[in-house]
Amino acid sequence: MPKLIPTPDELSQPFWDAVQQQKLLVQQCSACNTLQYPPKAACQDCGSDKLDWHETNGKGHVLEFVVLQDTHLPYRGPDQPINLAIVTLDEDPRINFFSNMPGEAPFEVPVGAAVEVMFEELPDGSLIHEWRRAQ
Ligand SMILES: [Zn+2]
Repeated sequence: MPKLIPTPDELSQPFWDAVQQQKLLVQQCSACNTLQYPPKAACQDCGSDKLDWHETNGKGHVLEFVVLQDTHLPYRGPDQPINLAIVTLDEDPRINFFSNMPGEAPFEVPVGAAVEVMFEELPDGSLIHEWRRAQ
């Protein structure tokens, strides 16, 4: 069953536009250089609203995972059990992304492993970011 792309809002639209170009962006504060994601209106560290977009190198590590077995999301129910991993971004491990870890068997997510971003095509042709073991 398909994943869904969240409906972008004004803040997240540039992020999703970049995903369609196979790029993973996070916000970068031009006052203090803090990286942050998900996008916010102001810097989480210094409060500045001077935020730009930074293209990450798409490298991360698996921090932890759970396995969804009784999700209430009806469109994902038939896929259960579903891995749901937390990936930390190497450029700033305070930044986390969720991943279903395509290619890894349920319950067998490699905690601590190096991963890299990839882009999955959805049935409507749009792309969504995902993570896989670094090649
Ligand atoms: Zn800042």
